[in-house]
This record gives sequence, structure tokens and C-alpha cells, in this order.
Amino acid sequence: MTAKVERTGLRIESVALHRVRVPLLEPFRISSGSVAEKEAVLVEVRTSDGVEGWGEASPMSGSFYSADTPDGAWRALRETFVPLALGVGEIDAAQVYLALRGVPGEPFAKAGLEGALWDAHARTLGAPLCELLGGRARPVPSGVALGIYDTVGELLERAGRYVSEGYRRVKIKIQPGWDLEPVAAVRARFPAVPLTVDANAAYTLADAEVFRELDAHGLLMIEQPLAREAHAEAAELQRRLRTPLCADESAESPGALEEIIALGSARIINIKVQRVGGLSEARLMRGRARAAGLGCWVGTMPELGVASAQGLHFAALEGFEYPTDIEASARWYADDLIEPAITIDGEGYIHIAAGAGNGFAVSREKVERYTVASEEFKA
Ligand SMILES: [Mg+2]
Repeated sequence: MTAKVERTGLRIESVALHRVRVPLLEPFRISSGSVAEKEAVLVEVRTSDGVEGWGEASPMSGSFYSADTPDGAWRALRETFVPLALGVGEIDAAQVYLALRGVPGEPFAKAGLEGALWDAHARTLGAPLCELLGGRARPVPSGVALGIYDTVGELLERAGRYVSEGYRRVKIKIQPGWDLEPVAAVRARFPAVPLTVDANAAYTLADAEVFRELDAHGLLMIEQPLAREAHAEAAELQRRLRTPLCADESAESPGALEEIIALGSARIINIKVQRVGGLSEARLMRGRARAAGLGCWVGTMPELGVASAQGLHFAALEGFEYPTDIEASARWYADDLIEPAITIDGEGYIHIAAGAGNGFAVSREKVERYTVASEEFKA
């Protein structure tokens, strides 16, 4: 913990869980799978004086990036984490974090509950969330992440659309057989655009030649080329390349980060609030990575507006030197759950909505429209 956060003195009156399924505008396809709708568990905390705070536990369905699932998050929240928070009793995100961190696993569930408490805590104090986290609201540069398409033509069409909307960086998802050709095509069409690739752990060190060829395209970084636990192999690959490697799936915890630092497995880390188990843990990892001289930035899954808004507050902290993956609501959804929707300006920056907490309001009507299950727990 860096900043000392004022205590609220308020009690948690209730915690409600809302499991939602929101349609995506287009399926999101990466090396490990494809999804057509976004599932999440929204966490609604109510304080003893009637303030609401919202969080989002947002694993992808179908073991997309990790073994975490919406079913698992739902179970962990209702059976373990919500009772723990009610046991702490106070609207105090840091205290609840200390209780949650004693239980191994389920980082997405923890991130959702802690997020709701941070939001309620900040709203109670009348402060923007980023100020509780030790920062100050500023426009956050946004980059677009492009999934895997059937043809290079489709990829170029999408890249053109988002570059013209202002996104400040293009990230291309790659997998064996969809790597050198699409990257060369995007680089040729958009010679000046900052470009990265993300392999989502789809390669091995035997594919090093692919990365040596990608090295020629002046990429900002190559994200997660090898398996999650292949720290030593990633270090070997990094030694052979000019382009910095970025650890994403590998940087799953403070312990994994220590290994990455010790071995030199990456020069950059992508800190995802959901994957690392919430804002407190994410903030600790940011501090450690910066102290070790690693570049840092804030990634996303993608997530619905509640988690995206919290990611923006985190990304507003100092020291994140690359554009975030957090995109405009309209990138993925016809109907995001927050108001106002997240938008980017013509220069590719997202402006955090003014006001306390996340700054964005949750639309209860939309939550109800997409809820498939809900449950409430009283103190
Ligand atoms: Mg990634």
C-alpha cells in the first residue's frame, strides 16, 4: 500500500451478485478460442447509508486465457468471498483485500468484490477512484486489440477502421499460421502506427524463427509468445530478439513477477486487474515492476464497462507508458452497462467520467435485461 486511504466508518449492508450475459458485436477470436457473448458476475455492494459500489468479476467463458470461468467466480463469491467481506463488515477495500488474499486462487472473483468495495469506498468519500489509488484523473491513451480473422483483408479493414477512429496503437492477435503475413500486411498498410502482437502463449522456443522475422517490423513489443510458465525459455527468446517481450499470462502474481525479473523473461509487463486478483494486488505489482525497470501497461480481457472503468482509473496512475487495451464501449457492445458509455476522442484518448468512485453510473435497467441469475446477501 502506498497511499493511506481514509476510513469510511460505514458498514456493508448487503452484497448482491448479478450474473450477466451481454452480446458482443462480433465474436472475439484468439489463439485459444472464440466467444460471442461476454459473461460476467457483477458485484453490487450497498453501504449502511445507501451508497452503491459496483465491481465486475470477468473471466472469459471456456478457459480462454486461464482456467478461471464465470461458474467458478460465481461459486467462489457466494461460498467464500462474500461471507469474508460481510465478516470484515466495514466499507474498507484495503481491509477486505487482506482477508481475500489469505484464500488462494480465484483472482477474478476477488477483483470483482474488491472493485465493488473500492467504488463504494471512493463514492462514500466523494473522491474519484484514481485518487484513492494514489493518482489523479488524466486522459488514458487507448490501443485497439484485433482478434484473428478468416482473411488478411478483413484484418486490414478492421485495422483501418480503428486507426481512423484514433486508436493510438494496434495489437494483432497471432497464432501459428496467422503471424508473419497478417503482421507484414498491417505494417505495409500503416507504416507509422505503433504496432504490437499478442500470441497468447501459442508458440514454443522451436518457433524462434517466426519471432526473429517479426523483429524486423519495429514492433513496440511481442506479448506472451510462450507458455505461461515458460519463464526460462522466454528469457532465452528475449536474448535473441531486439523487440521487447511483454509478459501477460505469465505475470499472474507477485511471485511470478519475481521470477520474470530474476530471469529476464520480459522487459515489459501487462498488468490486468482481473487476472492478478484486484486493484490492491495490481498496484503492488506495478510498484515492483517499475522498481525493477520493467515497462508497464494496463491490459483487459475485454471486460464490460464496470471493470473497464476501474481499469481506466488504475491506468491513470503514473508510470504506465504504453496505451491500454481498454477500448470504447462501442468496440465490443451495442449495449454496455454503464452511463455514459466509454468513448475515445479523435486522438485516441479515453476521458474518465468526472465524479466519485468509478465516475460512471451502472444502468440497473440494462443489468436486469442481461441478468441470467442473481442472489443477495445481507449483513
Ligand atoms: Mg495478452
